[in-house]
Amino acid sequence: MAATIIDGKAISTATREKLKQQVTDLGTKGIRPGLAVIIVGEDPASQVYVRNKVKACVDTGIYSEKHEIPATTTEEDLLKLIHRLNDKKDIHGILVQLPLPKHINSDRVLETISETKDVDGFHLYNVGALVTGNTIFAPCTPFGVKVMIEHLGLPVEGKSAVVVGRSNIVGKPMAIMLLEMNATVSICTSRTKDLKAYTKMADILVVAVGRPNLITADMVKPGAAVFDVGMNRLADGKLAGDVDYDGVKEIAGYITPVPGGVGPMTITMLLANTVIAAERAHKLK
Ligand code: NAP
Repeated sequence: MAATIIDGKAISTATREKLKQQVTDLGTKGIRPGLAVIIVGEDPASQVYVRNKVKACVDTGIYSEKHEIPATTTEEDLLKLIHRLNDKKDIHGILVQLPLPKHINSDRVLETISETKDVDGFHLYNVGALVTGNTIFAPCTPFGVKVMIEHLGLPVEGKSAVVVGRSNIVGKPMAIMLLEMNATVSICTSRTKDLKAYTKMADILVVAVGRPNLITADMVKPGAAVFDVGMNRLADGKLAGDVDYDGVKEIAGYITPVPGGVGPMTITMLLANTVIAAERAHKLK
């Protein structure tokens, strides 16, 4: 039987409706969550991402400000801006759009954002909090997958979860979150000897690699829930994930399409983290 297609847009819309209500409730207490987005340079893709983030804030009732900095800016000037935003009372979350120009040390920039405003969840403090089961801000993309799993009511406890990819922004935090949900977790990388042997065991399979068609139908356990994080621009201009969607949807129990699967959840979870940051700043959480 063909898989249930997971509608990321619908889950994202439902999640945003709940967030709007939370923002309204905070408004009655005189609190308006605020997000500052910093973009350095004129990378067209980054500009689109930033525009979408600002629009999502507006639509949800979150205050937002965009700081556009020329690519020639010094690291020192960027750090000064972050310090200023760290001190601003109406800003609860700060996001620096990556990648940064080569002359700027991204790690130093991310560590300069106050851990209380680190809505991307990349600060070492928040990584430590996640790993020790005290999550404050979870990185947005794996957080989105977690919310999708919960929304669908998929069983996780005692299940076999396999995460393909070990980046700091997706693979590693995803694996930790699944572990927290009491799955038995394996992480596969480019060095994994027999990828299929692992993926075939997975009740929950999350793929975050950046290689179209890496996961084919013969690599998937019948009935598995497959979350395709990959976003690959094909030669014909179309967007594709890492999973052979047409083949795998005939085997899996659930599958996310690309586009329209995991992608729409990422910005939504940024909004969720901004609301959490505002609640924490006002000691409501
Ligand atoms: P990344 O930092 O490049 O990491 C890719 C990971 O894939 C690495 O850990 C790498 O292993 C592993 N890998 C490479 N080839 C492999 C293979 N043949 N078998 C198994 N593992 C392999 O990528 P990322 O930032 O996590 O992003 C991954 C994909 O997700 C990209 O397509 C990206 O565009 C997409 N993405 C989507 C969203 C969204 O909102 N939907 C958000 C973030 C990223 P090694 O560590 O051994 O090199």
